[in-house]
Amino acid sequence: MSTFKAPKGTYDLIPPDSATYLAVREAIAAPLRNSGYGYIETPGFENVELFARGVGESTDIVTKEMYAFETKGGDRLALRPEGTASVLRAALEANLHKAGNLPVKLWYSGSYYRYERPQKGRYRHFSQVGAEAIGAEDPALDAELIILADQAYRSLGLRNFRILLNSLGDKECRPVYRAALQDFLRGLDLDEDTLRRSEINPLRVLDDKRDAVQKQLVGAPLLRDYLCDGCKTYHEEVRELITAAGVSFEDDPKLVRGLDYYTRTTFEFVHDGLGSQSAVGGGGRYDGLSEMIGGPALPSVGWALGVDRTVLALEAEGVELALPASTSVFAVPLGEEARRVLFAKVTELRKVGIAADFSFGGKGLKGAMKNANRSGARYTLVAGERDLAEGVVQLKDMESGEQVAIGVNEVVAELESRLG
Ligand code: AMP
Repeated sequence: MSTFKAPKGTYDLIPPDSATYLAVREAIAAPLRNSGYGYIETPGFENVELFARGVGESTDIVTKEMYAFETKGGDRLALRPEGTASVLRAALEANLHKAGNLPVKLWYSGSYYRYERPQKGRYRHFSQVGAEAIGAEDPALDAELIILADQAYRSLGLRNFRILLNSLGDKECRPVYRAALQDFLRGLDLDEDTLRRSEINPLRVLDDKRDAVQKQLVGAPLLRDYLCDGCKTYHEEVRELITAAGVSFEDDPKLVRGLDYYTRTTFEFVHDGLGSQSAVGGGGRYDGLSEMIGGPALPSVGWALGVDRTVLALEAEGVELALPASTSVFAVPLGEEARRVLFAKVTELRKVGIAADFSFGGKGLKGAMKNANRSGARYTLVAGERDLAEGVVQLKDMESGEQVAIGVNEVVAELESRLG
């Protein structure tokens, strides 16, 4: 062990578990790639102002959790706490919205940073795969994203997750509701922080996880009773489309989510095996965000799924992903000439796409066979001087234990046919 440890709230992804993380990322990305989403990658840090404006000055993410710093050159930057603002910033900067092909559909995968109180499922460095569809107001687009996330989770074998759905209204009906909610909240016995929040961002009080607060919120006015006709029709169509796709969801009239920029459709994916950090993903429509960061009006919708929590959800359900063995063939040379011959064979096998590894460090047979076992390889190639003198190597099937001698020149063809 070195003097150093991973910083508080972070952890390392190391083999063999890291393979599960990669597979989860891949499983979330696959349906997106298959649905017209192009890959985008943005920097790990941005101008702090982008998040202040884009995520919301009054959110916990911006006020408490952001890793903000000043560079030697005097720039005010922040490690990205989420993906949407950056992706929209990049799309606007590259004028993707002007290419005449709306919506611009993008997906991303990366690290995000929030200075949170660490606990299981809540880290200071975590990983998300996300999708954004920019520049179209169409309930089918909201439905598409929800369906694709459902497909991603199901393809991983997850079953015990639920989709919570709500509409947050738009700039026409939300202010009316906001005022009604504020009136209601003013009549409650709330602590000072919560009172302040109810003045700045009353909807977020609904999201308070504390029982004492939730008890007082019984009877609070609900947005669904205030939705304007446009929002009502829109939401009804989203619900119909996902229902028709066979995706089940629950209406959750109190779902607001922690970011300020959401309008109309909001949704969250929760997993019941995760305890308090139950949200495995979330998203929604953010029609006003582009204008908030200085762009044109571009109604958009997106989601981000947490990779860390999805892995925890798999563990909670006892799902073992069928990961391909990382090594199919392991070569064990006994002696100098065998080293040269088998190293060349390993290179050839790799060239034809067979995952092969080699016993490095001049180990004896016993140690090398231990490595072969640990590698998970289906076949081992063993060769000593006597084998080579006869022009053969020993091919051992690690499952059956069967061993046969095959000609040095037949090795690659034989393994190709055996491994299909
Ligand atoms: P949010 O933008 O907060 O809705 O986050 C979207 C998803 O990212 C959540 O549903 C989580 O799965 C994941 N996530 C957010 N914050 C954290 C964190 N601190 N640690 C681990 N995962 C997180």
